[in-house]
Amino acid sequence: MTNFENTRSATLSVSGVDLPMGTTTIVDVPVYTDLDGAEISHTFHAVVGARPGPVLGLHTAVHGDEWLTVEVARAIVQSLDPAEMSGAVLALPVANPPAFAGRTRNTPDASDSPDLNRAFGGVQTWITDQLAQSIVDNLYANIDAIIDFHLGIWGSAMGSVACGRDFTDPVINKQAFRLARAFGLPYVRHGDFVTKFPGPKSGVGYAGEELGIPGLISEVGGAGFNEETEARWLATNVAGVHGVMREMGILSGTPDLPDEVMVFDTAARVNPTNAGFVDPLYSAESMMSREVQKGELLGRVFSPHTLEVIEELRSPVRGLLDMIPRPYPVRPGDWAYLVLDLDSPGNIRLSGDEMPSF
Ligand SMILES: [Zn+2]
Repeated sequence: MTNFENTRSATLSVSGVDLPMGTTTIVDVPVYTDLDGAEISHTFHAVVGARPGPVLGLHTAVHGDEWLTVEVARAIVQSLDPAEMSGAVLALPVANPPAFAGRTRNTPDASDSPDLNRAFGGVQTWITDQLAQSIVDNLYANIDAIIDFHLGIWGSAMGSVACGRDFTDPVINKQAFRLARAFGLPYVRHGDFVTKFPGPKSGVGYAGEELGIPGLISEVGGAGFNEETEARWLATNVAGVHGVMREMGILSGTPDLPDEVMVFDTAARVNPTNAGFVDPLYSAESMMSREVQKGELLGRVFSPHTLEVIEELRSPVRGLLDMIPRPYPVRPGDWAYLVLDLDSPGNIRLSGDEMPSF
């Protein structure tokens, strides 16, 4: 158990709306008015347990094209019963409404910071700066931990969770790892969230470094794959959040931990340099299970015009495929493969409840 034994949920309110224990409440908070006169708002869902305890925050669709994560938010909210909870879950299904409306990753404007996940702590009145500030004021101000959900664009799937290891406060690093492990997968990506990627202006980076809120990123799932596989990814996300809630003491019991956790230090993106149609050699069912060798062919990119192969995608390392595409059109840099490096010296193999040294 981590040190989350507070009673924050007993006095929870969002934007002046009280959220009593034992209730589920939706709170709509206006953020800005758009050019067509529409009021753009954040819609928060609060599931507050019958007994006091800590508060877990969730946000999905920070990137507007990763809309599968909204299904995850819905499944999680629907899975919760206030009568069984000591503490609360505060969820924001559409963190970036204008990007989601256009089904684009970024906010469709000409600002300095179109990517909401690089806009936290922004002080201008750009749309993303205001959306980030609303998330800080209404969500981060009320929570003890955060899960940020990514991926889920059509055509590309992923299968892991990640947490930061370079927060200035070592307590945040430890708590973040415990939460990520409680998600229950046998592998965790461990990265320099503040100093490298996704950076100090990302949601989880800002929450951890500036606000002292530990968090993790779930990148499990994708759209456009077979129904059974997609249902399994959805169930993994719901079970993962329940595991995190057990770790925090919001649900009773202890999280189901795997016997062994592989902590990966390095991930290599293998994405196209030319636009075309990606033609994968591996199906999503081999995600995180099939070992590939350095130099091995993972897929090809063919021209949708001439139908000829214009690029080969090869693994730069021996590793496990954490991201796998289905055949879909890509532009340079778009998502094809992510390979977790099995030979990185920074990898750590831990027994279920063992902690890495920080
Ligand atoms: Zn994303």
